[in-house]
Amino acid sequence: MCLKGYKSKGCLGAQGIPAGTWFRGNMEGEFTGKEVYRQHFDPKGYLKVHMPFGSGSPAVREGGFAFILENLHKAFLLDGIQGETLIDIGSGPSIYQLLSACESFQEIIATEFLEQNREEMQKWLKKDPEAFDWTLMVKYICQLEGDREKWMEKEEKLRKTIKQVLKCDVTQANPLDPLVLQPASCVLTTFCLESACKDLPTYRSALKNVGSLVKPGGHLIFVVALRETYYMVGQEKFSCLYLEPEVVEEAVKEAGFGIVCFERFEVNFTRGIADAQSIGFLVAQKHNEA
Ligand code: SAH
Repeated sequence: MCLKGYKSKGCLGAQGIPAGTWFRGNMEGEFTGKEVYRQHFDPKGYLKVHMPFGSGSPAVREGGFAFILENLHKAFLLDGIQGETLIDIGSGPSIYQLLSACESFQEIIATEFLEQNREEMQKWLKKDPEAFDWTLMVKYICQLEGDREKWMEKEEKLRKTIKQVLKCDVTQANPLDPLVLQPASCVLTTFCLESACKDLPTYRSALKNVGSLVKPGGHLIFVVALRETYYMVGQEKFSCLYLEPEVVEEAVKEAGFGIVCFERFEVNFTRGIADAQSIGFLVAQKHNEA
């Protein structure tokens, strides 16, 4: 059900990282845990490095974002994954991952570990003049949906559909603790678990934690950096759990899901913003008896 036929075309980001700045705040290979996130994760630094559209680059095809956005569009609008509630886990300061979902779900609950990221998202929701400019990304999605000119309506629709921005921690059995939510029709997570987990046992248990938020028969949608060891946030280097695709598949199955599709897109970051070898787009469905 996912898109096929993509070829590797180059780097994801538009901004180069000056040589010699990669190791600030993090010794080579060291896991960047919660405290490092709290102190060093700068939302605008992350967005400027990783969001090619936001920085004004029209070169959508140059990176993995076309692959991600087109697969999300396909899953939510063409393949009909829809329902009442979608929970996005580890939204960060980002909204790109929700632009198609808001057409297929009545409500979206965004969740994020860091207060500074939740604040950044709130800025966009409230149209704060200092909010990150997502216009080009929104226009791209509208073009996929058939009318590039409807980007303002799309922004309004997403703002209305995101009902809450909650705190989450994927290492907790209930990532939304102390809140207990009804299991959702769909849980989405993009580039979060591989950043949050220090080793494979933690990753497997985080997947179960996140999977527990999905109702039987519901979907789990994953965008995952494969074979990545680090990614940049501004000039700070953050660790990433090195994941082979087979490990991701196994962990998803172990959490009680059947894999519907797992597409991959090769990437080659030429400017040091991350070192993933590919991006995976995975759709899984929770077993009814799980
Ligand atoms: N989903 C966003 C952000 C990805 S960056 C996007 O696609 O752009 C990785 C995110 O994982 C950050 O927002 C970081 O704050 C979050 N994160 C780190 N540790 C976490 C934890 N223990 N639980 C939940 N999220 C965590």
